[in-house]
Amino acid sequence: MTTVDPARMLTRQVRELAVRRARLRRRRAEVTGNPAHLDCLDAAISRLGDEIDHRRDHRAIVASTGSYQPWTQHHFQLGDFARIGGAWYPVLHAGWAALTVPPLDLLGERRHHPNPEHGIDTQSVAYARVYGRRRAGRVLHTPPPPEDAACTCRVTIPTFNPEFVPEQDAGPCTRPPVARLTIRHDGTACGCHGLCLLADADAGSRPPWVEVVLLCDAHEQTAVSAATATAAITFRGPDVTPDPMHREPATPPADRTESTMDLNDTARVRRPRDAVEYRLGTVTDITYAPHSTDIRRLRLRFPTGDERTYTADEITPSTRDDDRAALETAFIDACAVLRYACRIAHDYDEALSTDLIGLLLALYEAARTRIGLTLDPVRVPEYGNHAPAVTPPQGQP
Ligand SMILES: [Zn+2]
Ligand SMILES: [Zn+2]
Repeated sequence: MTTVDPARMLTRQVRELAVRRARLRRRRAEVTGNPAHLDCLDAAISRLGDEIDHRRDHRAIVASTGSYQPWTQHHFQLGDFARIGGAWYPVLHAGWAALTVPPLDLLGERRHHPNPEHGIDTQSVAYARVYGRRRAGRVLHTPPPPEDAACTCRVTIPTFNPEFVPEQDAGPCTRPPVARLTIRHDGTACGCHGLCLLADADAGSRPPWVEVVLLCDAHEQTAVSAATATAAITFRGPDVTPDPMHREPATPPADRTESTMDLNDTARVRRPRDAVEYRLGTVTDITYAPHSTDIRRLRLRFPTGDERTYTADEITPSTRDDDRAALETAFIDACAVLRYACRIAHDYDEALSTDLIGLLLALYEAARTRIGLTLDPVRVPEYGNHAPAVTPPQGQP
């Protein structure tokens, strides 16, 4: 097996993606009078832009810290969100080669294949196409530093001209990093007074570049307070794993089982197949086996007005004053409404849209960590497509 130089690989990928983007831009300039086609091309161009930016960030990390770490299965777990093609998807499974995410993103949009000609992508997603992770409210655009990484302070950066920036002889700091600072050097706003754009040779200057520094707890304070607006903290450790406050659904009361259910009892579908079946159902009809008290089928009415028939083992008794049921309903409805608002905001005010996505992500996380409800975008109903939620249950009838 040959080892690949990651910096060279990333450079090549950026070049290939840039060529593809240029091709799409040319095609866009030729297309006239077809708004749908233009939108599609614009979206593809912006997705390619995301990919290029992501690889440039990666390349900056390689150049500055000497280590390259792509996203792997060890960086993801159920309940995380992954950034793919400009949208957030809940992670359903982290396999060794690819992430499994639903075909719809948080906003209910279909996932696109990175190659626009391929249309909709329904397969799992290779880690090379994952551009970020959100866990417990923290976003990482590039993976956390590897475990053996050290603080990069006091390391002489060879691209600086030693005539202006004297070499430091204190040797490298070996403490573990607690933060990563990404500095975009443009010569002025970065606060370097042009020194950072001086090329190795005296002739000319280099184009703006990105420096990535890893900071230990001792170096963090000074570096962060000296940072200007072109610098950003792109990681702050330790890499948190949220407390999995996963709770199993409430167990049915001991005195009631599927086989002793009565009319007007309330029940829950064990494996909901759509949004309706997430709701608490009321038993409206029971069919018994001939000459027997064995329940053969039960008919449930849902708050949406839908009525469906189940076998006894497909449902489980659930009390009407089950607060969790009311919360689930509230979460699902809130999610649908927010998603709806988010789509409108997308064309109204991009910043508002970003804020709304943040709220949506927080909602997903709260639902998962607090009541153990994993909201699947595929099953969240479209706002307006279902009957409004009835008043939450008010205790026993
Ligand atoms: Zn600079
Ligand atoms: Zn240090």
